[in-house]
Amino acid sequence: MKQHDAMYIDGSWRPAAGSGTIDVVNPADGQVIAAVPAGSAQDVDAAVRAARAALPAWAATSPAERAGLLTALRDQLAARAEEIAETVTAELGSPLAFSTAVHAGVPVAVCGSYAELARSYAFEEKIGNSTVLHEPVGVVGAITPWNYPLHQVVAKVAPALAAGCTVVLKPAEDTPLVAQLFAECVDAAGIPAGVFNLVTGLGPVAGQALAEHEGVDLVSFTGSTAVGRKIGAAAGAAVKRVALELGGKSANVILPSADLAKAVGVGVANVMANSGQTCSAWTRMLVHEDRYAEAVELAVAAVAKYVPGERVGPLVNAKQRDRVRGYIEQGVAQGAKVVAGGPEAPRETGYYVKPTVFADVTPEMTIAQEEIFGPVLSILPYRDEDDAARIANGTVYGLAGAVWAGEAEEAVAFARRLDTGQVDINGGRFNPLAPFGGYKQSGVGRELGPHGLTEYLQTKSLQF
Ligand code: NAP
Ligand code: MG
Repeated sequence: MKQHDAMYIDGSWRPAAGSGTIDVVNPADGQVIAAVPAGSAQDVDAAVRAARAALPAWAATSPAERAGLLTALRDQLAARAEEIAETVTAELGSPLAFSTAVHAGVPVAVCGSYAELARSYAFEEKIGNSTVLHEPVGVVGAITPWNYPLHQVVAKVAPALAAGCTVVLKPAEDTPLVAQLFAECVDAAGIPAGVFNLVTGLGPVAGQALAEHEGVDLVSFTGSTAVGRKIGAAAGAAVKRVALELGGKSANVILPSADLAKAVGVGVANVMANSGQTCSAWTRMLVHEDRYAEAVELAVAAVAKYVPGERVGPLVNAKQRDRVRGYIEQGVAQGAKVVAGGPEAPRETGYYVKPTVFADVTPEMTIAQEEIFGPVLSILPYRDEDDAARIANGTVYGLAGAVWAGEAEEAVAFARRLDTGQVDINGGRFNPLAPFGGYKQSGVGRELGPHGLTEYLQTKSLQF
């Protein structure tokens, strides 16, 4: 696999300060496919200095100029979509069709949306006798996970650049190759030196150094709640802005009037996509007790199509595989019933887990409370709508969800009762412009579209 033995800092590829490296492993077979430098606090410091130095000139560019460069970046991502998909498949393990459609395709749409927003956004507004200027926050430290490795980079870098901020990115250690490819695209797009910088490295070393660096004005983090909590605490102590996109345990609520077969089929597909490694996955399916047995049967039939190594890939690494299998064992131990899958390995090589469906799940079980981050669905019965709302809202999370009913209005009425940042009504499509982010412990702040842009802006009021 193509790789750089260097960091992208101040517009060029330069060697890391230290000599440590990180092996990149293909999770489908466990083979090492590349190695990238493990950046240190010294590398992070060099990158933050470059971003600070580049900030005044970049912040002073016109929105039209930034829009033009983001269009060029979008075109680079589009032109290299095939290479991007192959790279994500190699380091994350997702099937190539999914990598092409989602991992390569969505970033093109999101980057394009920020080219448009840079052009059209009102960076100045009038309020009474004031003119309010929407100015860039400054230097952004972006820390991203491996599950949607390019999407999560673009969902931070594109709005930051549109706003006039400069960026230092620390991508996940498991998926640094697509981040290097992104840096090549930034370079080829002609974005000025220092505006975007990439430091590959380990979370507790490079990630922590970036989150704590006093030259960073805003930290934008996506990943686990445990790390997000620490980053939020450090940012609070330093009085700097922070955006956190954390975990989820989203509910797919199927009301009695819904098309059950459709709701269950789409619900199963939602959980199995990306091997269940999706923060917004609908991992709890809530079904009225009168239709529960039928729903379980439909889910078992639907999940049979997800053959490991074909339609569903491996988990990203051995640690995540073990963690997910541990949750499956815990579900069994707490009395839930495995109706499909189970903890045994489905293949001899690779970090695969069997697509698993649990029935007879009660709301307080660990598998109904914690984020598993694997191809595991829990189906829970409810008595009435109040019971369904109580169960749906009964976790510390609130990132996404779904409601199905005969009529959209009935589903919307129920969606209003959910403590969550997004709800798909009767299978509504993903919207790359809709604000994405969490209620409760699923996070702080919103990404995507105009709401995502405002995260990277601060206001200055001029009175006349
Ligand atoms: P993680 O450790 O939170 O990783 C997210 C990012 O934070 C990575 O770039 C990571 O670097 C970095 N990081 C780790 N420790 C850090 C620290 N002390 N300071 C600053 N940055 C740090 O998540 P994970 O270990 O990959 O996954 C564990 C669980 O988190 C999953 O099972 C899942 O439940 C959840 N998760 C959620 C999302 C989401 O989209 N919300 C994404 C991924 C994982 P390294 O790559 O070097 O660790
Ligand atoms: Mg980690």
